[in-house]
Amino acid sequence: MAGETRIWTPIDYEADGKQSDCLRLPHSTDLSAYGWVPIPLVCIKNGTGPTALLIAGNHGDEYEGQIALSNLARETRHHKVSGRLVILPALNFPAVAAGRRVSPLDEGNLNRSFPGDAAGSPTQMIAHYVCAVLIPMADIVVDLHSGGRSLDYVASALVRPGRTAEEHEKLLRLMRLFGAPISFISDGTGGGGLTTLAAAAQEQGALALTTELGGGATLSKAGLALAEAGLKRLLKDQEILRDVAVEPASPTRFMTVRGHSAFVYAPSRGIFEPAADIGAEVLGGQIAGRIHFPDLPTREPETLFFETSGLVACRRAPSLTERGDCLFKVMADIDVGPDQVSHA
Ligand code: ZN
Repeated sequence: MAGETRIWTPIDYEADGKQSDCLRLPHSTDLSAYGWVPIPLVCIKNGTGPTALLIAGNHGDEYEGQIALSNLARETRHHKVSGRLVILPALNFPAVAAGRRVSPLDEGNLNRSFPGDAAGSPTQMIAHYVCAVLIPMADIVVDLHSGGRSLDYVASALVRPGRTAEEHEKLLRLMRLFGAPISFISDGTGGGGLTTLAAAAQEQGALALTTELGGGATLSKAGLALAEAGLKRLLKDQEILRDVAVEPASPTRFMTVRGHSAFVYAPSRGIFEPAADIGAEVLGGQIAGRIHFPDLPTREPETLFFETSGLVACRRAPSLTERGDCLFKVMADIDVGPDQVSHA
């Protein structure tokens, strides 16, 4: 995290009121030597209190969070806030504008770029700004993801394991309040590990909640509704939006991802025929799907099996598949102890 950020904004994070502008990400090109890329930013502050950093568009092709945060930014009047909301609905804006997971400027995957680099590529500069400027302000960080173009996901919330028993309990409590059908605990194996925004936030002592709300580069109505209701419950609980009307959280099912054996990967290039839907309960040894070879029509398709039992958390969305693509991820139930959130 060395170096001074080159990103700037006219927004004053310490000023009371509602400010809507953007971060200016310097990007020097043939047609814009001294230009910058705008990253939308809304800061709503009223007096003292906790700060929530709310992010979507970390991956550009995941839409429920982008809409939920834009709605929240429009709806929230500053005198209804106690503390501060810092809202970035399109954090990797070049990726959002292109409808892509990664940035077309540098092919950077923002959620694999933390802690970033002040003097790096555009995506690395965004990650660095989040780490150096935004996370230090935040008591709670919510990073809204979905499966993107390549994956369909069950609506879920996830956290990294807490570093202490106390932090772990606080994270479980956030997931109960968010109220997704599934809540899972993952250290990021098979995903981003320590290079994610959530890992960077945890490193600095902020409570970080991530979601998976849908996928396939389309919008899940249920995922959007969950994002909006879950965020309001979290912000009311933090006493940042004390008066906001909320529905009680539905009970959630706690699960985990048990290492690489939880995944099914494509062993060859071909057309993927899945044998299970997201949300299905499967057994280890059960057929997961087949890979077909349309260029060799008499060749037998290759049959794939689930290695472990559990619930199908996500499934590859596109049919055309390369060797090494993730086809499924399976989650297993865990016992996290008594529920201390009232659902009444
Ligand atoms: Zn994502």
